[in-house]
Amino acid sequence: MQSISPETIYRGSSAWEESLPQITNLTKSPLVLGRGAHTNSLRNKIFVDLKNQNLNVNSAKLQFDCCYEDISRVKNIILKNKNDSVIAAGGGKVLDSGKYIADCLNIPCITVPLSASTCAGWTALSNIYTKSGQFIKDFALGSCPKILVYDHKFIQTAPKRTLASGVADALAKWYESSITSTTIDDGLVQQAIQISRVLRDQLLINGEKAFKDEFENNPSWQNTIEACGLTAGLVGGIGGEKCRTAAAHAIHNAITQIITPNKFLHGEIVGVGLLLQLRLEEMKNNNKLADQSIKQLLLLMKELNLPTTIAQLGINVFENNNLEKIAEFTCRDKSEIHFLPFEIHKRDIIKVIANFEQQKIKT
Ligand SMILES: [Zn+2]
Repeated sequence: MQSISPETIYRGSSAWEESLPQITNLTKSPLVLGRGAHTNSLRNKIFVDLKNQNLNVNSAKLQFDCCYEDISRVKNIILKNKNDSVIAAGGGKVLDSGKYIADCLNIPCITVPLSASTCAGWTALSNIYTKSGQFIKDFALGSCPKILVYDHKFIQTAPKRTLASGVADALAKWYESSITSTTIDDGLVQQAIQISRVLRDQLLINGEKAFKDEFENNPSWQNTIEACGLTAGLVGGIGGEKCRTAAAHAIHNAITQIITPNKFLHGEIVGVGLLLQLRLEEMKNNNKLADQSIKQLLLLMKELNLPTTIAQLGINVFENNNLEKIAEFTCRDKSEIHFLPFEIHKRDIIKVIANFEQQKIKT
């Protein structure tokens, strides 16, 4: 069974208003789930608009990342309230939690992304973390959300940093799926990879302009937010599990194991993982184009103020055995790193990261 996309997608500057009649038909007692203080007023608007439709609305707030502690607490709130749907309004961690909880309780989930930071509003996957943000695992859900509301007015209010993070995460789709899946003889997977190539090209063309000039009437901004929040999800939906993540996400998952005072966004860490993946390809697969790709990506990443080293993520890999810990987690049995078409050992990861970080210190 493959769930390619949400059943209904509303997109554009009045997506939320347009979605209200269908939401009102679908649910009588939704729970609005959110998290951060900066999205409070938007969640409040969502809450009031639903109340005005005569729905019996409740709300709940996550305290941490998408973790089992928050999930079981919110599940109990829903059971107590007898809510018949979850409306997850926020960034990737909120969307993943909402989808997971709805899936467990067998009620519909409506995703309302409040930034373009990930494609979590679209996908049938939830990433589970610990309370302190360490990656545990990907969890495959029964289906994509029932309704996805991609309201440009909402997304426009998000911090710029979330857009940059979304761009890095969406760029990784091409570099990860193309290396893991080109040998797969499945037309649909091949088509998904080609969509991810066009997605990358559009981000390279529009990304910088979108970041500098974030306005509803800026076509680059519109294309970029939809590329990050919609197309990236579509690639995963069509490609399915064969169109997999590879080293960039495996390295992301490993970096999250090191707890730092300042937390970084998913795509910010994936971006660094992507540069490291390309160095691995150069070293282990003799890929001559990898260096070219790194130079091309670095130009855009610098314009978008994205971190480009692990040091810029607040981690000194040469302290506290961090390099060893990252390499160990990256190469663990269940890691996506093993989807690469060549063998990877801990010593390869250590070598690539040490060279990369040392080189960056010098330059
Ligand atoms: Zn991602």
